[in-house]
Amino acid sequence: MRAKLAQIVREEKLRKKRMAKVQRRKHLAPLYKKSDQEEVKVGELCALCGVNQASTRDHVPPKAIFPKPRPALITVPACFECNNSASGLDDLFKVYLSMHTAENNDIARKLFTEKTTRTLRRNQNLLQRIHKESRRVPVRNDKGKLESRLGLLWDSRAHTEVIGRTIRGLYFHHAGNPLPSDCELKVQWLRGVPEEIVPKLPLLEEHVIGENQVVYKYAIAPEDPRHSLWLFEFYGAHWASGYTSPA
Ligand SMILES: [Zn+2]
Repeated sequence: MRAKLAQIVREEKLRKKRMAKVQRRKHLAPLYKKSDQEEVKVGELCALCGVNQASTRDHVPPKAIFPKPRPALITVPACFECNNSASGLDDLFKVYLSMHTAENNDIARKLFTEKTTRTLRRNQNLLQRIHKESRRVPVRNDKGKLESRLGLLWDSRAHTEVIGRTIRGLYFHHAGNPLPSDCELKVQWLRGVPEEIVPKLPLLEEHVIGENQVVYKYAIAPEDPRHSLWLFEFYGAHWASGYTSPA
């Protein structure tokens, strides 16, 4: 993958040279599709902030992390601000997730080769940053042998924001209302499923998106729905969790 990154850097330099000769007008992509707008009910609140009127629908987890053909995805009503502020972080999350999981999973590899490489070609600064921060690190494989793998530092803001927004969206999807405003939401990055959670796993409801591309488990406390617990597995190789509780 390091060779692939170096190749992208070279290609990007060539592309920039060509671009310098050609003045191109910037075309702004539409902020949301018309069909997304039409699905929002009049007066419906944004599932993510719980404050503004929804004007579109947002995918949770974000659409960016699924290569085509995409599985059926969950959408929730979202306001313009929440929907519009997210796409840059979704892209960052996709880049790190695909680089973290591509060596373990065929669909994640497809995400890297088909989507991440395109994003990195467009985002020269991010590409340089990743190139500088990535290192070969020894990792023990299933058979106990040491292997050289590409180690990468995640962008923690993108991680926290994307997992947090996904929890808010899924909370709405399952509970039927936005997360109450007197709740706090905490996100954790995991190296695996923590041992203390293992006994609780049978109590959590499991949902699978696509071919195990995202597996999440959750529980919302019936006696006080401000308490909820969320566990995510992405491409069988990245784990995150989060919980909500009264603030
Ligand atoms: Zn909102």
